[in-house]
Amino acid sequence: MKKSLVFPAIVGILFFAAAALCLTGTVENEWQIHDMNRPMAPVVTPGPPGPPVPPPSDAVVLFNGKNLDGWTDAKGQPAGWKVEDGYMEVVKGTGSIQTVKGFGDCQLHVEWMAPFPATGEGQDRGNSGVFLMGLYEVQVLDSYNSRTYADGQAAAIYGQYPPLVNACRPPGEWQTYDIVFHRPRFGQNGELLCPARMTVFHNGLLVHECAQLTGPTAHRARPPYTMTPDRLPVALQDHGNPVRFRDIWIRSLE
Ligand code: MG
Repeated sequence: MKKSLVFPAIVGILFFAAAALCLTGTVENEWQIHDMNRPMAPVVTPGPPGPPVPPPSDAVVLFNGKNLDGWTDAKGQPAGWKVEDGYMEVVKGTGSIQTVKGFGDCQLHVEWMAPFPATGEGQDRGNSGVFLMGLYEVQVLDSYNSRTYADGQAAAIYGQYPPLVNACRPPGEWQTYDIVFHRPRFGQNGELLCPARMTVFHNGLLVHECAQLTGPTAHRARPPYTMTPDRLPVALQDHGNPVRFRDIWIRSLE
């Protein structure tokens, strides 16, 4: 093939591959869920933590460091987490919290800190989570010098994809997630037209690039998609560990 035709040909093939995937609506994952043989992401040391990233003018500020207005527990009752010194902290047993507003396609900025000194091991070490539409978890975990299954380490799309790198800072330091999320698309009869997709940066490092989710994230399961509304709340997980969050803002991409 002429050199000048190679690039357009590759682009064409990729386009049809992507279109075929969106039409069939299924995403294969070659690894068993929580497979301990799956390699953990290689460690890359990010730059040092900085001050909170100021929200841009078109962002909805979900947490301004002062109160939990705009958040409830899963039953719609007031969120029971602690707020002080500009952060919120998980209060064990009060349950996960979620935004009052719903969101679909979006860019989400979240900052979090694992407890210091660290306690526990594996999944019981600074565990929380950021759930897009309340269904799709980007794992929050203290994976700094700590082992667990690869698809459950920090910044994993839980149970589906390990991050490309382990960009964790030590416990007690602020870390950032920047997530670009596209919700799944469904046809009129509830059939899946296109899966949910995520691009994620952890402390500024790319950890997922347009990952195609197999369905909602879950523990020891990969449930299939079921038709959902186009907008659902963002949720943060109470996994029993006093993880802190600050500076949470979102830009709708709908
Ligand atoms: Mg979690």
